[in-house]
Amino acid sequence: MSGIRPTGYLHLGNYFGAIRNYVRMQEDYDCFFMVADLHSLTTHPDTKGLKQNVHRVLAENIACGLDPEKVTLYCQSHVFETSELYLYLNMLAYVGELEKTVTFKDKIRQHPNNVNAGLLTYPVLQSADIILHRAKHVPVGKDQEQHLEMARTFANRFNHRYGEVFPEPKAFNNNEELVKVPSLDGSGKMSKSENQMSALFLADEDEVIRKKVMKAKTDAGPTEENSKKPDYIENIFTLLRLVSSADVVKKFEQNYDQCNIRYGDLKKQLGEDMVAFISPIREKVDDILNDQKYLNEVIIQGAEKARVSARATMTLVRDVMGLRY
Ligand code: ADP
Repeated sequence: MSGIRPTGYLHLGNYFGAIRNYVRMQEDYDCFFMVADLHSLTTHPDTKGLKQNVHRVLAENIACGLDPEKVTLYCQSHVFETSELYLYLNMLAYVGELEKTVTFKDKIRQHPNNVNAGLLTYPVLQSADIILHRAKHVPVGKDQEQHLEMARTFANRFNHRYGEVFPEPKAFNNNEELVKVPSLDGSGKMSKSENQMSALFLADEDEVIRKKVMKAKTDAGPTEENSKKPDYIENIFTLLRLVSSADVVKKFEQNYDQCNIRYGDLKKQLGEDMVAFISPIREKVDDILNDQKYLNEVIIQGAEKARVSARATMTLVRDVMGLRY
C-alpha cells in the first residue's frame, strides 16, 4: 500500500522512490495505491484545481506502468472508512509524539499561517491509509521512514489495546536501501514544492529537461586522483546511475577518478538520457488524460475494490473495539 499527494506534477523522486516499486510489486503482491487527496488538503486547502491534479497523478501512475486491472488504484477520499479509522487512531496518538515529527516541524516552517490540526495528525491519517488494508509492505522513499515507524507504533498500540487486527507495516524497496533522489541544486531531496528548476518533472518538455540538467552545480573538477566527490557532484552521479547505462556511469566515474572529467560532457549525456527516460512517459500521460472515459472507469473501479478491503477491516475493528450495541 502506498500513495502520492496530488499537489503538482510528479518528479523523478516520486518515480524512483515510489512508483518504480509499485510497478515491480504489482505482479507478486495484492497492491493498493492511492492518490492522497485528503492529505493534500493539509497544505493546499483550495480545491479548485484538485480534480485536474487527481486525474494527472492517476494518469502518471498508469503511464509509468501501473495496471489498474492488476492493482487497486483509487482516490483516498472515495474510501470513507479511512476517515473512520483515522478518528479511532487519533485517540491512540499522543500530541507530544506528533509534535516531534520531522515533517510536521518542516511544514510549520513552510506554512506558518496555516498550522492546522490536520498537519499535526498527518502521520495518523497516513497510518490509517496503510493499516486499513492490513498492509505489510509500503513502497516509499527514504523521507517516509519516520512515518512508517509511527504507523507501526499506532498499529501495535491498537492491537494491544483492543485486539490483534493489524500486521506491522514496513517500508519496502526490494530488500535494498530506501531511495533518496537528490535535488538538482545540490541541496536536499527533489520535491514538488521546492524550486521548480531543481526538480525534474515527468511532464517536463525535452528542452526544459536539458536546460535544468545543464544548470546543475559543478566546479573546476577534482585535482587529486580518486578523491571524494562533493555532495553536488555525487548528486549528479546519483541521477546518472538512475537513468544511464552501466558503461556510461563507469566511463564518467573513471574520468572523475583520473581527474580528466569534463562536466559539460557529463551533463550533456545526463540530459540526453533523462530526455530518453522522461519523454515516453510524458507522451503516455497526455494520451491517458485525453481519454476521460477511461480515467472515470479507473476511478470508479478503484473505489469499489478499495472499499471491499476497507469494509472487511472495519468490521474487524468495530468488533474488537466492542462498538456493537
Ligand atoms: P512530495 O514530497 O514531492 O510532495 P509526496 O509526499 O506525495 O511527494 O511523496 C510521494 C512518494 O514519493 C513517497 O513515497 C515519497 O517517499 C516519494 N518521494 C518523494 N520525493 C522523493 C525523493 N526526492 N526521493 C525518493 N523518494 C521520494
